[in-house]
Amino acid sequence: MPSVCTVDQLTEIIVMDGFSASVTRTQRKRSVGFRVVDGKVFVLAPESISKAELRLMLAAKQEWVNAKLVSQSEREPLPVRQYVSGERFAYLDGELRLDVRSGAFKACVVDSQHLIVTVPQAKPGWVRNALERWYKQQAEVDFNKRAAHFAPLVGAWPTAIQIKTYRARWGSCNNQGEVQFNWKLMMAPSAVVDSVVVHELCHLLYMHHGPEFWAQVKRVFPSYLDAKQWLKEQGYQLTLD
Ligand SMILES: [Zn+2]
Repeated sequence: MPSVCTVDQLTEIIVMDGFSASVTRTQRKRSVGFRVVDGKVFVLAPESISKAELRLMLAAKQEWVNAKLVSQSEREPLPVRQYVSGERFAYLDGELRLDVRSGAFKACVVDSQHLIVTVPQAKPGWVRNALERWYKQQAEVDFNKRAAHFAPLVGAWPTAIQIKTYRARWGSCNNQGEVQFNWKLMMAPSAVVDSVVVHELCHLLYMHHGPEFWAQVKRVFPSYLDAKQWLKEQGYQLTLD
C-alpha cells in the first residue's frame, strides 16, 4: 500500500520527556513552527534543520508544551455523539436539534430549529454522514457570501473558494489566489467565521503573518483577536466526532 506508507515515511517522530512530537518538513527557509493541537505536538520545520537540533528546540520549549498539554487536557470533554433525535448541533450563532426520520436517503432539511435527516435506518454512521454533507453544503454557500462581502473591504478577490476537511486548521490560501475553508467552521459563531474569511483574504495581499498582514486584518476586522482566542479555546469543539 504505497500511498499509506508515504505518510509514515514523511512523518518523523521525536520522543521527548512526557510527550512525542510529529515533525513535518516544509518549504520554510529557516523558521520552525510548534503547535499543540488536541493534546498532540506538531513541529513544522525546513529540511535543513536536523532532528538533533529540533530536539534541542523542543527541550527549550518543554515548559510551554507541557502547559499547553495540561490546559488542553482540562478542557471540557466533548459529549459522545449518538446521532439520535433530540441531540443538539451547533450551527453558526444558534443550534439545531437533530430529528432522525426513516425513509429513502434524502438531503437534510432545516425546519424551525430542527435539522431533519432522513435515512433508511437510524445508523449513527449514516446520520453523521448526512450531517457532514449538510454542513459542507451550507459552508459552500456561506463562505462564498462572506468572501463576496469582505473581498471589496480587503481589496483582494480570491480566484476560487474551496471547502475542505481539515483536522487542525481553519483556512488556507495558496499562491494561485485560491482560498480554502474548513466546513467545520459552520459550527462556530458567525463572527469567528468572518474572522477566518478576512484572515485568508488578507493572505491574498500578504502571504505571511508579518506586521503588515495583521494590520490589514485589524483594519477590516477590528475584533479579530477575540475570534482568534475563541478558536484557540473552543475550536476543538467544532467536530462531528
Ligand atoms: Zn494565516
